[in-house]
Amino acid sequence: MDLRITGGFAPPGHNHRRCIVDAMDRAAQVCAARGARLTPQRRRVLELIWSSHKPVGAYGLIEQLSESGQQVAPPTVYRALDFLLANGLVHRIERLNAFVGCPEVEQDHAPQFLICGDCGDVAELREQSVEAAIAAGARSAGFVGWRASVEVVGVCPECAGGISP
Ligand SMILES: [Zn+2]
Ligand SMILES: [Zn+2]
Ligand SMILES: [Zn+2]
Repeated sequence: MDLRITGGFAPPGHNHRRCIVDAMDRAAQVCAARGARLTPQRRRVLELIWSSHKPVGAYGLIEQLSESGQQVAPPTVYRALDFLLANGLVHRIERLNAFVGCPEVEQDHAPQFLICGDCGDVAELREQSVEAAIAAGARSAGFVGWRASVEVVGVCPECAGGISP
């Protein structure tokens, strides 16, 4: 199976290697286009975040980086995360205080996240009507400079019995 995941949960057994390779390619392109420097350290942190579709916290990243033998100063990891967030390469899941890779880096967006309460997998959705409704509500409230992410907790198809809806 060689599916590209752009909405909904990644099916079990999908070629996740492909998700990682695609994510790293996109990151390289986006950074080159913006003149942003994707240093080896930033690449490494992004790769670790993409190691699965489960969000990973800063502390988990620091631990994993330290396991590879090198000494990693936490501020280095926080700076790498700031860079990845600022360039839209990752999103922060506020309720988990953890990070996931963005599968659609190219555009600014107000994503929605489906968070499985059982296995912890997260799927990013881009439902235009949701984004439009938030934008309209913010506009009519005279609210500016906002950013939004919607977090929805439930059970993923795999945990719900492996039958796709
Ligand atoms: Zn994957
Ligand atoms: Zn995204
Ligand atoms: Zn699940």
